[in-house]
Amino acid sequence: MLEVLPKIAKMQASYALGKPLALPMNLTISVSYRCNSRCKTCNVWQRPNDDFTIEEYEKTFESVGRAAYWFTFSGGEPTLRKDLPEMVEAAYRHCRPGVINIPTNGIQDKIIPERVERVLQAAPGSEVIINLSLDGVGVKHDIVRGVKGNFERSMRTYAGLKALKGRYKNFTLGVHTVISNFNVDEFDNIYAFVRDELKPDSFISEIAEERVELDTVGMGITPPIQKYQPVIERLQEGIHKAEFGDITRITPRITQAFRDRYYDIVKRTLVEKRQIIPCLAGVASAQIAPNGDVWTCCIRAESVGNLREHNYDFKSVWTTSKADELRRSIKAGECYCPLANASYTNMLCHVPTLTSVALEVGKGSVAKAFSSSNRGKSAKLRELPVLNASAEASAHNGNGNGAKARELPVLNGVDGSPITNSNGHASDDSIEATA
Ligand code: SF4
Repeated sequence: MLEVLPKIAKMQASYALGKPLALPMNLTISVSYRCNSRCKTCNVWQRPNDDFTIEEYEKTFESVGRAAYWFTFSGGEPTLRKDLPEMVEAAYRHCRPGVINIPTNGIQDKIIPERVERVLQAAPGSEVIINLSLDGVGVKHDIVRGVKGNFERSMRTYAGLKALKGRYKNFTLGVHTVISNFNVDEFDNIYAFVRDELKPDSFISEIAEERVELDTVGMGITPPIQKYQPVIERLQEGIHKAEFGDITRITPRITQAFRDRYYDIVKRTLVEKRQIIPCLAGVASAQIAPNGDVWTCCIRAESVGNLREHNYDFKSVWTTSKADELRRSIKAGECYCPLANASYTNMLCHVPTLTSVALEVGKGSVAKAFSSSNRGKSAKLRELPVLNASAEASAHNGNGNGAKARELPVLNGVDGSPITNSNGHASDDSIEATA
């Protein structure tokens, strides 16, 4: 973990200059839009397929080198790709990431545990986090995910994954719930089921966002803050009571402390409708679409260039004029969102957040650190007003730039944004499409 500190300094300097001094430390690889779920909150499976080959990933990862510390292999459903272990192996060989994160819908219950085992073997020195998606309990999960029998299959997959736990020290098994208008009223049931029955190493939840990437803009899937706030508060209560993860270990304690801060930021983002801390997407984090387009983030999903047209040289794509323009726009606060992936890197690069987490973790257990009688400097730090770049500019310029930024169209769907996106072609994936 300490090896990320020099990277953070480079990210901060790059943000200040508006020019990348290094490649991003957080890379999301969307390996395919193909998916065997039919979620009410996602249309990504309808997008046309033009997936990178393993040879194309080899060249790309070689060009990234040791810059990226976090890798996320997302989709679509990433485990539909038979060569997922080979992709992870290529990333490990060239980039040696500290953390590799892979979500799964758990549908291919006969395939996924074996495929994940090969992933674990391919990256023995990385922490591999597999997050099972769970949006309801029993048939309610099937209704949100659009696949009959999905819950039963997911539970079998989960059992298969749990059996790997004792054999691979680099394995973290998590559960991930997307809270939308379709399940926000069910959250207490989901939470109790995950805590009491599944007992994963970690439980994370994100609000359903309307994303260009997922072709969900304008679908009205995002619950109102009045309904989502109690969900966040329940999640934070769980962190304070240390209901998930082994908080006698330092890494889970750090993760939980950041997660607590993340939920603070989500609440404020939804209410204040602005970047609460500076977003370093386009500097510290990036996403590669299945066809090689490089995005600053999946919410805007605006390509800064295509790797195929740049001979698979990530640096060449990352330094285009389009990338510079997006960095300027993001720094000016022309967008905001609670995207978890970008938020964690943003928090790492934000000195007050980093300091407050370090102080809290240094005190001992998370539960102890969060007790009301034990809230000292770290609690004060997190309560400091945290301004984004546009607000800071506003303060300096007599409310000029900041006010303008807040009037610009919002790019995510929290308030029903005007972004449109073309639809792709329907996929013919079946449940065992590529098994
Ligand atoms: S949409 Fe969100 S993640 Fe993307 S650049 Fe803007 S604030 Fe950052």
